Amino acid sequence: MAPSSSSPPIDLPQLRDGLDGRVITPDDADYDQARQLFYGGWDRRPGAIVRPTDAAGVARVVGFARDRGLELAVRSGGHSTAGHSTTEGGIVLDLSDLDALDIDVEGRTAWAEAGLTAGAYTTAVGAHGLATGFGDTGSVGIGGITLGGGVGFLVRKHGLTIDNLLAAEVVTADGRILQVDDDHDPDLFWAIRGGGGNFGVATRFQFRLHPLPQIVGGLLLLPATTETVAGFVAAAEAAPEELSGIGNVMVAPPMPFIPPDQHGQLVIMALLCYAGDPEDGERALAPFRALAEPMADMLQAMPYSGIFFPDEEEYHPTAVSRTMFVDTVDGDVAATILKHLQASDAAIRVAQLRVLGGAMARVPADATAFAHRDSRIMVNLAAFYDGPADREVRQAWVDDFADAILQDDTGVYVNFLTDEGAERVRQAYPGPTWDRLVEVKRRYDPDNLFHRNQNIPPR
Ligand SMILES: Cc1cc2nc3c(=O)[nH]c(=O)nc-3n(C[C@H](O)[C@H](O)[C@H](O)COP(=O)(O)OP(=O)(O)OC[C@H]3O[C@@H](n4cnc5c(N)ncnc54)[C@H](O)[C@@H]3O)c2cc1C
Repeated sequence: MAPSSSSPPIDLPQLRDGLDGRVITPDDADYDQARQLFYGGWDRRPGAIVRPTDAAGVARVVGFARDRGLELAVRSGGHSTAGHSTTEGGIVLDLSDLDALDIDVEGRTAWAEAGLTAGAYTTAVGAHGLATGFGDTGSVGIGGITLGGGVGFLVRKHGLTIDNLLAAEVVTADGRILQVDDDHDPDLFWAIRGGGGNFGVATRFQFRLHPLPQIVGGLLLLPATTETVAGFVAAAEAAPEELSGIGNVMVAPPMPFIPPDQHGQLVIMALLCYAGDPEDGERALAPFRALAEPMADMLQAMPYSGIFFPDEEEYHPTAVSRTMFVDTVDGDVAATILKHLQASDAAIRVAQLRVLGGAMARVPADATAFAHRDSRIMVNLAAFYDGPADREVRQAWVDDFADAILQDDTGVYVNFLTDEGAERVRQAYPGPTWDRLVEVKRRYDPDNLFHRNQNIPPR
């Protein structure tokens, strides 16, 4: 049986004995800070937060939790939208002190420990004019994003993060430290490319690096109308694969670069990234600029790491969200999107549109545990809320909104699921993918020790 959330008391001296790394408990001054996740609303009190410094330490903590029936939550960057990387009473295995990065510039690969953030990795490899794609936010941990897939600004040019994963080190439930790749524990290597943290603790990853001395991109703010929203998606579909982007259709926030008279209007806050020759980039970006007179145009040549907004440590929003894929955003869909955004008064409400395809779509559906290779457009709907009553209102709004734009693609991307139940996890893994994942789970984690995740139960 999986340990439940009512974990027994933790024998702290035993946990600390011989462990290289910090053990933070409710008695420590920084406990409250250490238990905080990126999202607010997950007010859990772990019995201990443990920060090992190497894979052997991770294996020790895994064994300690397993042998004593303690609930174990694994944390890399703490950005779980479902609060999975914490636990009530159990142990948080916090990987943030595993932050070594070994870059092979000649060989164009890097071994990165799982406690690194996407931003730290991107800045460090960027110093050599190299890049691996993660997501749109620098503070996201490479652990969680990689294990779920990784959809970011290089997705059409170089595929998902997992399409650039060459090998990994994984600590399994029985405490073994495995080096996995296509030739060693290939089923496990397949499963961790999309199957999340279900199969063990990934302590380090080997990524492929791509030459990327600079990009042309950044933020472009356009008024949101039926024509510009549908036009944005059409332009992104027609763009060369070097260009990946995100269109956030939302109410203009009171940001300094937005003229005050336009705060509160519906806008497309677009984040665009052209990963190639700057002159070609200017040509590829022109159709977006031509959609309407931009309200702000911050597209420019810059290092790839410049695409991430700076981290705000004390920013812990509470939000509800709903993720889905759609096949098309034509004028009718665009009108429905605008109608729903207008109908809400949440302080922040957004329909995020990401056109996929390109390199991501060329990987066969069964090559990794991320099978949605044909999905065309990812849509993430979100609303911030303030307190439990407001949460219900906002949740009803995102659910309604999602129903209104649902098309034929019923898949979902696991990394944007919140705490939505077993059926939604199944939607992340269509038929044969699910069956194979269950088989691998049975083999590597038969007692479901690793269940604080979008869970694939062994039976
Ligand atoms: C602001 C924001 C922006 C985002 N943008 C994108 C985006 O552009 N593209 C995208 O693809 N996703 C994006 N995401 C989703 C993100 O990929 C997931 O939330 C991801 O799980 C976060 O990883 P983490 O390591 O920070 O989270 P954590 O909360 O630490 O972990 C998330 C889950 O993964 C497990 N896990 C983490 N590390 C390990 C490990 N080393 N071994 C085993 N299990 C592990 C945890 O147990 C937990 O179940 C975004 C999320 C946020 C909050």
